[in-house]
Amino acid sequence: MISQKPPVLKTVRPLKIPGRDVDWQRALCKNADNPDRFHVDDYGDMKRITDEAIAMCNTPCPIKNECFIYGYENRLDGVWGGTTSRQRNQMRKKGMAA
Ligand code: SF4
Repeated sequence: MISQKPPVLKTVRPLKIPGRDVDWQRALCKNADNPDRFHVDDYGDMKRITDEAIAMCNTPCPIKNECFIYGYENRLDGVWGGTTSRQRNQMRKKGMAA
């Protein structure tokens, strides 16, 4: 299911990474033609769309690490830093720190 959330990175993000300034203007997905692909998860038919988003992150995006930490620490849904929320949840269960 495609999320009804607003597009990623087209607006100022309200959350911050503690102690870090992230230059979201450098994000490769800033002008993505289909921002919904960053808001879906890797379930069922959405896997292909999610894979497309992750491929853009792995181009690599110059702020990939910061983006991952942002999604991880703020427990966000969708693709952040080349990972899905499912992958980040698994990392949390295994006690991995960002
Ligand atoms: S790592 Fe991926 S989701 Fe994060 S800013 Fe870059 S392209 Fe966008």
